[in-house]
Amino acid sequence: MFELLLTDPKTKARRGRLTTSHGIIETPVFMPVGTQASVKALDNRELLEMDTQIILGNTYHLSIRPGMEIIEAAGGLHSFMNWESPILTDSGGFQVFSLAKIRKIKNNGVEFRSHLDGSLLFLGPQESMAIQRKLGSDIAMAFDECPAHDSSPRELQAAIDRTIRWAKECRIQPRAEGQLVFGISQGGINPRLRERCTKEIVSLDFDGYAIGGVSVGEPEPEMMFAVDITEPFLPKNKVRYAMGLGTPSQMVELIARGVDMFDCVLPTRIARNGTAYTRKGTVNIKAGYAKSDFHPIEEGCTCFACRNHTRAYIRHLLNVNEILGLKLMSIHNSHFYLQLMKEIRTHLENGTFSDFRKEFVANYVPSERVRAMSQNIKLPSITEALKSTHKGKIAKAKKAKVSKATHAGKATKNVKVKPTKKQTSAKPKNISKSSQNSNNESSSRTIS
Ligand SMILES: [Zn+2]
Repeated sequence: MFELLLTDPKTKARRGRLTTSHGIIETPVFMPVGTQASVKALDNRELLEMDTQIILGNTYHLSIRPGMEIIEAAGGLHSFMNWESPILTDSGGFQVFSLAKIRKIKNNGVEFRSHLDGSLLFLGPQESMAIQRKLGSDIAMAFDECPAHDSSPRELQAAIDRTIRWAKECRIQPRAEGQLVFGISQGGINPRLRERCTKEIVSLDFDGYAIGGVSVGEPEPEMMFAVDITEPFLPKNKVRYAMGLGTPSQMVELIARGVDMFDCVLPTRIARNGTAYTRKGTVNIKAGYAKSDFHPIEEGCTCFACRNHTRAYIRHLLNVNEILGLKLMSIHNSHFYLQLMKEIRTHLENGTFSDFRKEFVANYVPSERVRAMSQNIKLPSITEALKSTHKGKIAKAKKAKVSKATHAGKATKNVKVKPTKKQTSAKPKNISKSSQNSNNESSSRTIS
C-alpha cells in the first residue's frame, strides 16, 4: 500500500509510493480532476503524455449522470472512460453539502434535491460506498460532512460527530476488489476538534487520510493552520491527502508540512479564463500584450503547447473561441502542476527540497504582476497596441454600457462575443456559484 521512502531532514516533506490495483503512484502527487469522467479539455493520451499518475472522479455527479446503471454496464469507471491508471473517487459528501438545493441531515445520511432536476435523492455512508464500489475506483473516500469555514462551534462539533459516525460506517462497508478507503479529518481551525476528529478517524485504521475542510473560503494562513494542527495526529506510515488544494506555492508549502496528495481544478479552470501558470506566477494570455508575443507560454516548458505554439497564436484561438485554445491552455497548466510535483520528488531524493521551496515560493507571485517581470513587455509596438486597445475598449464600453465585457486585455471587437459565450455556459456555472466562492476546494469537487 503506502511506503514512506524518505522524509526531508529540514521539513516534514515526504517522498513515498502508494500501490493501488491500477498501478503505483509516486508521491508527492497531483491528481487532475475528472469530475464528469473527463479532465476538462484533456484526453487520456494527453494526460498520460504529461505523466498523470492518477485522476479524480466524482461520486455525486457520476451517480446522477450518466447514472450507475450505465457505468456498471460499462464495467466500472475505468472501463467506461478507458482509463487504465488509478482513479480516486470522492464520496459526494462535499457536493451534497455545497450543491444540493434542499437537504435534511439525518443520522444515516443526507436527503437532498438534485441540482439538475430537483429530484429527491439520499446519500449517506452506505450509499456513497456502494456507488464508489460500483465505480470501481482504486481509492474511495469516506462520506463526511464538510462544514463551512465560518461555522459556529456548535455546527462544527455536530459536523465532526457525524463525520466520525459516518467514517465508522464507511469503514465496514464492502469494497471493490483491491479498493483502498481513505478517512477524512474535519474540524476547521479548532485545534481541539481537529485533534479529536483526527484521532478518532485514525483509530479506524483507514488506508490513507485526508485533511478536509481546507480551502473552503478561508484565508490562506487558516488553511495552513488547519493542516499544521492536523498533521501531528496522522500516522507516518499512511498517505496524506489535502483535499481540493491548491495554488502551486500552496502545494509546495503543504508538501513541506507533510502532505502527499493534492487535487485541484485550478489548472483547467483558470486555463479556460486564459490564465496560464509560470514559475513566477500566473499570466493572462488573453491580454493585449500577447497579441504579437511569439514566445511560448513559458520559455523552457516541455509541454505540447509550449513546444509547438506561441502566446500570440493561443491568444488568437481564445479570442475567437476555438476549442483548441482551451485545450492548449489546459495542457500547459496541467503539465505545469504535474511537472512541479515531479521536480519536488527529485528534490526530495536529492536532499534539496528545502532550498527549492524557499526559491520557488519567493519567486512565485500569484498575480498578473508577473507579466511585467516576464520577457514580454519589451517591444514598444506592443505597448502602443496595448494603450490603443485600452482606449478603444474604454470608449466603446462607455458608449455601449457593456459592463460585463470589460476584462483587461479583451479586444474591443470581442465585446460582443463575450455575453453570448457566457449565456451558453450559464447553466452549469450558476449551479456551482450558488454555493461557492472562487476558491479551490469548492471548484475542485464541482465543475472541474
Ligand atoms: Zn507549457
